Amino acid sequence: MEKRTELYRGKAKTLYYTDNPELLVLEFRDDTSMGNGEKISQFARKGILNNKFNYFIMNKLQQTGISTHINSLISDNTSLVQKLEMIPIEFVIRNYAAGSLLKRLNIQEGLSLNPPIFEFFLKNDKEHDPMINSSYCETFGWISKQNLIQIHKLCNKINIILSKIFDEANLMLVDFKLEFGLFKDYLVLGDEFSPDVARLWDKATMKKMDKDLFRHNMDGLIESYEEISCRLGLKIN
Ligand code: ADP
Ligand code: UDP
Repeated sequence: MEKRTELYRGKAKTLYYTDNPELLVLEFRDDTSMGNGEKISQFARKGILNNKFNYFIMNKLQQTGISTHINSLISDNTSLVQKLEMIPIEFVIRNYAAGSLLKRLNIQEGLSLNPPIFEFFLKNDKEHDPMINSSYCETFGWISKQNLIQIHKLCNKINIILSKIFDEANLMLVDFKLEFGLFKDYLVLGDEFSPDVARLWDKATMKKMDKDLFRHNMDGLIESYEEISCRLGLKIN
């Protein structure tokens, strides 16, 4: 496989073409951002940690029959992935109240949400990723009704699998964001799953261990990502 020119540079990752039109190189950079790119910082090793973490989680999902874009790990901070036609929507599952939900409903952080909340946002940095619903999707044609129903089911299934994995590592999976794409009309989980796109709290102390440390200007982001990986039994050099 030969890495070719850049296809897209996002806020934290870069995609490159390869000599195979169906495959891309996904590079995890050390950049992290918040407020749709308003605050940007670099954290040494974050790209490596997220690449390997993502590979581990995507493999776990793949083993349970969920289609993911992951093909193989090709270096410390890059993976080979299937090129998808991305659906321009971010899908969020919430098991406990946190983040934007607190502001929206003025409820207490950590409130258990049963059944978990499913919500989605249009990927549009300029408009600050507005929350949308199935009626918007139908009118604007961002995703078919059938695929939306299928994604809701997939998100619930993924939540059950991942909640168990993190629970066994003494972590609470508070909430997370997923992105899906189409490969020949077939729904595939794309993008990433890492502590950049999920909230993970220590089960005993409810201490935040994810990107919220950066969002709240707290120390120890990389140490915390290393600790999460270690608890999952992942050895990252
Ligand atoms: P952003 O675009 O929000 O700044 P990133 O820096 O994470 O985010 O960039 C990664 C981009 O790559 C995202 O826009 C995501 O939708 C896209 N992407 C992820 N996986 C794939 C894939 N398999 N095929 C095509 N695009 C992908
Ligand atoms: N999230 C994300 N990218 C975004 C917005 C949210 O990965 O552009 C993740 C976030 O890390 C959290 C979940 O989605 O795990 C829910 O985020 P929320 O709506 O609470 O927004 P935030 O408080 O992060 O702005």
